Amino acid sequence: MQTLVFSPVKMALLIGWFFLCLWLAQRSQYSLLVPKDKKTIAALMSLLLGPIAFALFLFIDLIKKSSQSQSSIIELLKDFIANIYKKEESNDEFSINLFDSAGRNIKEIYSHGRSSRDLQVLDLTTEIIWKGLELNASDILIDPKDDSVSTVRLRIDGVLRIVDQLETDTCQAVVNSIKAVANMDIAERRRPQDGAFTAKTITGNVSFRVASAGVLNGEKLSIRVLNQSANRFRLDNIGISKKQAIIIEGAMKKPSGMILMCGPTGSGKTTTMYGMLNEIDFNRRNVITVEDPIEYVMPQASQIEVNPKANITFANSLRSILRQDPDVICVGEIRDEETAAIALRASQTGHLVLATIHSNSNAATIVRLIDLGVSPLLISTGLSMLISQRLVRKLCDNCKQQANLSQAQISSFKKKKINYLNIYEGVGCEKCHGTGYLGRIAICDMLGLDDNLRTLIANEKLDIGKLRQSGDEKGKSNLKKQGLRKVVSGITSLDELKRVLG
Ligand SMILES: [Zn+2]
Repeated sequence: MQTLVFSPVKMALLIGWFFLCLWLAQRSQYSLLVPKDKKTIAALMSLLLGPIAFALFLFIDLIKKSSQSQSSIIELLKDFIANIYKKEESNDEFSINLFDSAGRNIKEIYSHGRSSRDLQVLDLTTEIIWKGLELNASDILIDPKDDSVSTVRLRIDGVLRIVDQLETDTCQAVVNSIKAVANMDIAERRRPQDGAFTAKTITGNVSFRVASAGVLNGEKLSIRVLNQSANRFRLDNIGISKKQAIIIEGAMKKPSGMILMCGPTGSGKTTTMYGMLNEIDFNRRNVITVEDPIEYVMPQASQIEVNPKANITFANSLRSILRQDPDVICVGEIRDEETAAIALRASQTGHLVLATIHSNSNAATIVRLIDLGVSPLLISTGLSMLISQRLVRKLCDNCKQQANLSQAQISSFKKKKINYLNIYEGVGCEKCHGTGYLGRIAICDMLGLDDNLRTLIANEKLDIGKLRQSGDEKGKSNLKKQGLRKVVSGITSLDELKRVLG
C-alpha cells in the first residue's frame, strides 16, 4: 500500500491556488466581464474554479461581442490581448499627478485606509485624465448611461467619443475621487457644483475645471481641460486665408479700434483671439486680458480671471485695467451692455480691443449689441472689424481618399467651374482613431466697417429685423464659400462642411 508523503512543493502550490481563487473572486466584483446580476455566482465560481472561471467569463463576453460586431472571435481575442499590452506600455508613461487647489495630492485626500480597491480607483482616475491629455481632448465627460453602466467620453476636435465604460459602482468611486481633488462636496450628488484641480505632467501643469450635476440615473461630471500653452496658435496655422490674415494684421497694427470675434460655443473664437495676440510685439505693447476662465496661458500678457463670487466681473475688471495704461485689451466674452459699452469706449480712446461675442453671424452681432442696449452710435464708431467663424475638422492625411461624388454633384461643380478633382473624404485609420479626421481648422467670414456701414448702423431708422435676416443668410453663404475652398483643396470633406454649416 502506498503511503501519503508530505510534499512542500505541492503544499505551496495548493496554498497559492487557494489565494489566487480568493483574489479572483474579489476581482470578479469589479470586472466589466461579469453582468451586475451575476456577481454572486461569479464570485462563487471564481472561488471554486479560479482562472478557469475567468476564462469562461471572457469567452462568454467574446461570443456576445462577436455576435454584436460581426467580427470573428479570434479577431476580438487578438484585440483583447493587444489592449492588455497597450495598457501595460502606457502605464509606464503616464507619470501624472493630480493636486487640489491647496497643492495636496489626490492620494492624500482620497483614500479610506488605502485599500487595494482605493488604489485601483485612483489609478483609473489618473488614467482617464491622462488619456484626455494624450488625445488632446478639450473636455472629459463622465455620465451614467443606465443604472448599471456609465460612459467616459472625450471631446476631441469638437466631437465626442466614448473611450471607456465603467460599472456604476466603480464610476461613482472615480467621480468621488475627482470631486475630492476638486474640493467639491462628495455627499452632495444632486445639486450642481463647481470645482478645479491641477495635473502635474512631465511637460508642465494643466488645470481642469469640474462641474457636477445630478441626472436621471445618477451624477454626471464635466471636466474642462484648461491652461494649455497658447503659443502654438498663429494666424497662419488656424485656418485663416492669407488674404484675410493681411487684413487682420493691418487692423492689429492700428493703435485703436475693436476687432470682435463672433460665433456659437465651440467655434474657436478664443483660439483666433490668441492667434491674433501672438502677432503682437509684447515688448512694445502692454497687453492685458480678462477671461472666464483663462483657457490658455500667455506669459507675456497680464491675464485676469473673472470671478463673480469675489466680485471680479468683466465690467469692473475692465475699469481697473483702463487705469493701468494698456495698449491692447482682450475681453474674453462680451455678455452684457456694461462690458460692451466700456470696451467700445476704450476702443475709441487709444486702445486696441479684441473681444468675442456669442452670435451666429456678423450682422447678428450688430443686432445682438443693439439688443443688449448699446447705442448704435457707439457701435458704429467703436467697432472696426467683425470676424464670424466656425471650426471644421481636417481630414486625416494618412487615410483620406478621393471622394465618391454623385453625377448630380459633379455636374453642379462643373456648372460652377469648380475643380472637384481634389475633393477627398475620410476613411479612418489607427492614426485618427478610425474617425477619418485629425485636428481642426477655422473658416471665417470677415466684415470691415467702412463709412457706408457706419452710417447705416448709426441711422435711427435701421430695420433690425431685415438686417438680422439678410445678414444671417449672407454670413452663412460667405462661410460656405470659405469652407468650400478648404473642401476643394482636400483639407476637409463635403460631409464635414455640411455637419458644421447645415
Ligand atoms: Zn486616418
